[in-house]
Amino acid sequence: MAIISGSCVCGAVEFSVQDKFIYSGYCHCSMCRKSSGASGTAIGGIPKEHFSVTTGEEHVKRFSRSKESVSCFCTNCGSTLYGEKPATAMVHVRYGALNSSPTLLPQAHMHVSSKADWYEILDELPQFSEFPPGAVPVESDVR
Ligand SMILES: [Zn+2]
Ligand SMILES: [Zn+2]
Repeated sequence: MAIISGSCVCGAVEFSVQDKFIYSGYCHCSMCRKSSGASGTAIGGIPKEHFSVTTGEEHVKRFSRSKESVSCFCTNCGSTLYGEKPATAMVHVRYGALNSSPTLLPQAHMHVSSKADWYEILDELPQFSEFPPGAVPVESDVR
């Protein structure tokens, strides 16, 4: 099965993930905006057993941005790479850190109610003010 690699900007941290993402979307929540310094993030969700840090685990810093979401980034260059979701045993991989494209492309926009005013969504994907219906609210305290 296909394996996709990814890394931080400086290359100290490398990871690999199976190309079997279960869901994917663009998140516009304030924490994704601020941690990325951009309009938000594109993430893919995958069970944690299908994800591993292959190089530089010692450079990974974990920040609990909420009780259900742990942001993981490189201590050397500050790249935010993935989030751990303890409640669901999922990892949210930041697609921007991948070295090649995953099969599952983003399916929706999430937390559009928190979207930056200066960013305009120009695609036809469905938009949800918070989580898509049926999604596990892994960041229920996001604002
Ligand atoms: Zn780095
Ligand atoms: Zn978010």
